[in-house]
Amino acid sequence: QQLPYKTTNPTTGLVEREFLSLTPEEIKASIARADDAFTSWSAATIVERSAVLLRAASIYRSREEELARIIATEMGKPIRQGRGEVSFVADIYEYYATKGPAFLSDEDMRPARGGEAVVSSAPLGVLLGVMPWNYPYYQVARFAAPNLLLGNTILLKHASNCPQSALVQEEIFREAGLPDGAYINMFAESADVESIIADPRIRGVSLTGSERAGVAVAQAAGRALVKCVLELGGSDPFIVLDVDDLDATIDAAVSGRMSNAGQACTAAKRFIVIEAHYDAFVAGFGERLARMTPGDPLDMATGFGPLASLAGVTDLLEVVRDATDKGARLHTGGHRIGEQGSFMAATLLTDVTPEMRAFDEELFGPVAVVFKVSSVRKAIEAANGSPFGLGSAVFASDLSVAHTVARALDVGMVFINENTDSHVDLPFGGTKRSGLGRELGRFGLDEFVNKKLIRTP
Ligand code: NDP
Repeated sequence: QQLPYKTTNPTTGLVEREFLSLTPEEIKASIARADDAFTSWSAATIVERSAVLLRAASIYRSREEELARIIATEMGKPIRQGRGEVSFVADIYEYYATKGPAFLSDEDMRPARGGEAVVSSAPLGVLLGVMPWNYPYYQVARFAAPNLLLGNTILLKHASNCPQSALVQEEIFREAGLPDGAYINMFAESADVESIIADPRIRGVSLTGSERAGVAVAQAAGRALVKCVLELGGSDPFIVLDVDDLDATIDAAVSGRMSNAGQACTAAKRFIVIEAHYDAFVAGFGERLARMTPGDPLDMATGFGPLASLAGVTDLLEVVRDATDKGARLHTGGHRIGEQGSFMAATLLTDVTPEMRAFDEELFGPVAVVFKVSSVRKAIEAANGSPFGLGSAVFASDLSVAHTVARALDVGMVFINENTDSHVDLPFGGTKRSGLGRELGRFGLDEFVNKKLIRTP
């Protein structure tokens, strides 16, 4: 047995807690417990299931500060942003508890050939969730809330660098009254995921994470003939066309790139700016990024903390060096800060060309790349010239232009005159290499459900 699950505090670089991973026998036993729990949990009424979600929501609210502190020490999220995450998670559980039952009621099909037909929404069984470290509570909630409401049970393999936030979520469900086995935290290794999916008791798998992990999970799900939902990376365009208030647009660019130290799949990553605004945008954006210094995530005043790991800093600095070696212009940043922990300076690159990694790789941290375009058509081409298709933001004072651009973008989500964001009641997901399926809103209930037809002549 190994100790791959560790809390390495990104502020200090020190390992604070380590946990054993499960043996193959323990993994089998977890699957059996989740499968047993499915019998009772799926037979509970929707009112009983909603009540558990509501209790979970209120526990998240009452433990907000403590939960935010855990992720500040596990992945470096500034405490203020962590509290925001916890509060949003409570909103998600409340949303599904209160609005979900109506979405799951039987649908009368009024068949053309007469008689009666209804489509009911039945759960599938045990689901596997494989989740990342960047929003340790929110990523789980998006998957767990709709599926627990449906009556599915969950095995959750969280990222190996956030074991304490993984454990506390299982504890919250226990406290909320979820029956034993209906949500199990599994310290399984990523190498075990394929064999877990191959177990016939697993009826679906949802992964949020990298493209590499997505490919591995999709292959295993294909072999097992179970559905998978994949929320993978993004390289979201932030398109700046003719705007009346460039200053406000630059403010939005800073928060779009820098929230969570840039480690979000829907962070604004490629800034595509119309010629007329380009020089002023680069100057203003560069100046504001240069003023941002990372601080202690446990301090309420901190808005920009360390990256989750030193490996994250090293990887990004390599991409920045590759770009500058090949002729890109570095306006600010491009270096680590301090010798302890994983702090990195906010970085701005321009003159990035297709032979540079920064052109089409996902930059998972505080590195912005600005591109100049000569027309709206060129902006659309640049935005769509990415292997990813997750979110996007279009800033334009003329809303008809913004809507035309929105229709032309090959992405899952477009936000006009604001940053891409997550809403409890709106669908979240992408196209192309950003993944498959949708989470949140009523769409989150459509993924691991048996839409069962019941027909009577
Ligand atoms: P990973 O994809 O490696 O990790 C996410 C989850 O997948 C973790 O639970 C991880 O487990 C698991 N995992 C990793 N490899 C496999 C595999 N082959 N089979 C099954 N499960 C696997 O993300 P990283 O943390 O390494 O981040 C790397 C990149 O991923 C980022 O730079 C970013 O591009 C992208 N990413 C995107 C996120 C998003 O929100 N869309 C979130 C996080 C990352 P373990 O921790 O045990 O390896």
